[in-house]
Amino acid sequence: MDQRGKNDRPALALILFGSPGSGKGTQSKFLVEWLGIPQISTGDMLRDQMRRGTEIGKSISRIMKAGQLVSDELVNKLVEDRIAQPDCKRGYILDGYPRTSGQAEVLMEMLRRVGTEEVVIHLVVDYNVIISRLTGRRVCPKCGTLYNASSRPSLKDGICDLDGETLVVREDDKEEVVRARLEEYERLTWPLLQFFEGASERMYHVDASTRKPEAVFAEIQARMNALGFGDLGVGDSGVGELGVRS
Ligand code: AMP
Repeated sequence: MDQRGKNDRPALALILFGSPGSGKGTQSKFLVEWLGIPQISTGDMLRDQMRRGTEIGKSISRIMKAGQLVSDELVNKLVEDRIAQPDCKRGYILDGYPRTSGQAEVLMEMLRRVGTEEVVIHLVVDYNVIISRLTGRRVCPKCGTLYNASSRPSLKDGICDLDGETLVVREDDKEEVVRARLEEYERLTWPLLQFFEGASERMYHVDASTRKPEAVFAEIQARMNALGFGDLGVGDSGVGELGVRS
């Protein structure tokens, strides 16, 4: 299985790291639109196995519900099969994988074997910024619409614009819980970042603390363009399409 993109260029594996509240979901969406390559989320793939009630789904149900990690072996195999699909020929964005050093090692070995080039993007956010971002989040208990005191306030303070319901703080957005989630993220991700510092020549730390998502994306685009991956983009630069100005 040799993965080559258009013009015989190496395929791209874009590995995206970002803590809860770093805007990783937004950046993934921008990147998928710009590059026209799929996003591969191991969390989504595992949930899909459970929904479909497959053997794998049954075997991981308890682990998933407890919020623990599924075995490296199983996740590595799912990813290996997924990236062999034709839509991954030019490249793909990995979201939530690798999660352990064991997964990272297997992934890098696999990429080297098939001639795919990795780019690692770490969205860096200040702890206190995330806490205020996440704890400022309010949700409508009836329709699920999300608001944010600073970035997306409701028209009337504390009231849902759509159905007039009183907004609430989600259980896992409470400050102690947010702190615990961030600490857990750092504990698990730190060794991976260390690993990629040594294993990859294309690892970038991008400041995503206070800048608008469009400005963060513009920096990622500039990095990708400099590496020669910009022309994977389905548009010319993609910048106009997304209304992004650096
Ligand atoms: P996520 O949607 O990325 O938060 O993942 C949801 C759950 O899926 C996690 O809590 C783990 O149980 C499992 N999971 C997702 N990705 C991985 C991975 N790379 N390695 C092991 N378990 C994973």
